[in-house]
Amino acid sequence: MSDCRIHDKTCIVYRAGHCLHPIQLRHLRERPQHWRDGMVADVERQTATITYVHEAATISVWHHMPLDRWLIVGEPVSVHENLNTLQIGNRLLYVEVTLRRLFDELFPHTREVQAAYRAAQPMLLVEGGTANPGTLGAAFDYATRFALDPMYDANIARVGFLSDAEAVSNITAVNAVAQVAQAIGDRVTAIVGPGAAD
Ligand SMILES: [Zn+2]
Repeated sequence: MSDCRIHDKTCIVYRAGHCLHPIQLRHLRERPQHWRDGMVADVERQTATITYVHEAATISVWHHMPLDRWLIVGEPVSVHENLNTLQIGNRLLYVEVTLRRLFDELFPHTREVQAAYRAAQPMLLVEGGTANPGTLGAAFDYATRFALDPMYDANIARVGFLSDAEAVSNITAVNAVAQVAQAIGDRVTAIVGPGAAD
């Protein structure tokens, strides 16, 4: 309980890993679509490992109270990663996703770096045409993933469109093109429609 502030024997910190604030409950009600099904893979004192049911991902969560009093290995839970909330039955716990904690420790100055970067009003050095810079950023992100792992499977991208079969099949098609491009180059695989050749 190193980060706790105790008043009348109760922690009064309203931060991820500590007490759930009523405002947080309202945010949870406003974003019900972000809940994901998980299963308890491991629990040891204040840390639990949760494996997602519908995607190949595992997260570690931390809570100021020992989690092994509520969680049993193999038990189904729900996770709201955006709002740092773990649901076990009717109980809601405001948890800290420890991967974020690790990144915060490893890279403590990202906010300052981002603020300085924005203040300098940088110019895009990549020719992006009419594409939104955010789309360009995502393209760079995915290009890097496929460069590091040619057989990368964009499952997380599909999860956002599970109710839209056409979108999912488009993601799968782009995924296949990106995988093939790692072997034979993107100039060949990019010629998939009218006007694409150069
Ligand atoms: Zn606390």
